[in-house]
Amino acid sequence: MNKIVIIGGGFGGLSFLKTARKSQNNFTLIDQTNHHLFQPLLYQVATAVLSPADITVPIRNLFKNDKNVNVVLDEVVDIDQYNNSLELKSGNLINYDKLLISVGSSYSYFGNDDWSIYSHGLKNLNDALDIRDNILKAFEKAESEKDNDKKLSYLNFVIIGGGPTGVELAGSIAELAYKNIKNEYRNFNMEEINVNLIEAGSNILPEYSTNLSTKASKYLQKLGVDLKLNEKVLNIENNKVITEKDSYLTSNIIWAAGNKANPLIEKLNTEVDNFGRVIVNDDFSIKNSNSIYVIGDAANYKNNNGDPLPGIAPVAIQQGKYLAKMLTSKSNGNKKNFHYSDKGMMATVGGFRAIGVIGKFQISGILAWLFWSLIHLVYLIGYKSKFIVLIEWVFAYFLNKRGTRLIYRENIKNNPNN
Ligand SMILES: Cc1cc2nc3c(=O)[nH]c(=O)nc-3n(C[C@H](O)[C@H](O)[C@H](O)COP(=O)(O)OP(=O)(O)OC[C@H]3O[C@@H](n4cnc5c(N)ncnc54)[C@H](O)[C@@H]3O)c2cc1C
Repeated sequence: MNKIVIIGGGFGGLSFLKTARKSQNNFTLIDQTNHHLFQPLLYQVATAVLSPADITVPIRNLFKNDKNVNVVLDEVVDIDQYNNSLELKSGNLINYDKLLISVGSSYSYFGNDDWSIYSHGLKNLNDALDIRDNILKAFEKAESEKDNDKKLSYLNFVIIGGGPTGVELAGSIAELAYKNIKNEYRNFNMEEINVNLIEAGSNILPEYSTNLSTKASKYLQKLGVDLKLNEKVLNIENNKVITEKDSYLTSNIIWAAGNKANPLIEKLNTEVDNFGRVIVNDDFSIKNSNSIYVIGDAANYKNNNGDPLPGIAPVAIQQGKYLAKMLTSKSNGNKKNFHYSDKGMMATVGGFRAIGVIGKFQISGILAWLFWSLIHLVYLIGYKSKFIVLIEWVFAYFLNKRGTRLIYRENIKNNPNN
């Protein structure tokens, strides 16, 4: 009987444990939060469509009937790979026979870490609630502001990065600004609001075909988003974004432009790529150790073309399942290599529009949006969440009522934007 320790109760860690728990091993799952977070819908918490509880599930509850699973709420701060031991923030030490690391990713500011002080990223619930507070407070501040320049800076939204997260946020903020809050404020009008999406490249959503990417751009523009392509950000200051072409005075800066591996990976003595991801062996073990495995966003696993698999949920889920079978299988011979089954990808834009590739088919518009909605409901964990999210969507999209337009907390981040 092995003691298998898993760091991270995200998509990879949970998928591993759900498959491996029936084996004759002892498992310890460590996460710095007490919940699994469905990150694909995080932007909807940030833009007041959903509430945090709708897209989270308590990790402990998922394993209540598995006596061989122990759940620990703590942050792993160090890994001693030579003595098979982990150090936790609480000061506790945990030993392991095998270690699975699935700690996800963090933001990359391309060497400009001070930009994080002036902008909001979106990775966890605190980030989402900070963004939500900031957006909702900005409308309130604009309503009572006498100075016109300051008022316009509250009504100016700048989202940096035209990947899926930036696109989703821009579309959803535009819907909130131009549709949901219409007629509610007396001292500014809709024409004074600007939602800018800044992208350094020539297209948004560059992982899709030019045709789909162009369609997504049109959908966004129809929602009122001002698309700024080929515009590289040079600096982010307090309430200001400076690009190659322009400068934006704004109290709402959202950074959705860069990712790198979770900093915990730096504690390992192993080979990493330019994004800090561990370059793993075929069986997800790391170089310099035969008891540590890395999956999900923290791993660089090369597909058949030699390119790393993308940092998306299906990759982490499939890797978790594969590794669970491999580590808990009784026979040691004839182990199959991991093969990623790519079922396609989708990105929603807002206004009942999305784009996607399913197998050989490219889809867009309302049909794609319906697919997108269905897939997200299927993948959400728990019937209660599926049901509540469906109801919230009906209210938000068909009845124009966003469920969680609440300002009730101080921003956790020490951000001078506030
Ligand atoms: C805003 C956003 C939108 C996304 N949208 C999509 C989408 O539409 N479709 C899609 O397929 N993918 C999407 N993704 C990507 C997808 O969520 C990731 O690929 C997936 O979550 C990776 O799984 P993982 O297990 O590697 O990490 P995660 O799911 O991120 O889980 C990591 C876990 O590790 C824990 N952790 C981290 N560090 C420590 C530590 N030191 N100690 C203890 N615990 C720790 C975290 O609390 C977390 O629970 C999105 C990601 C984000 C941020």
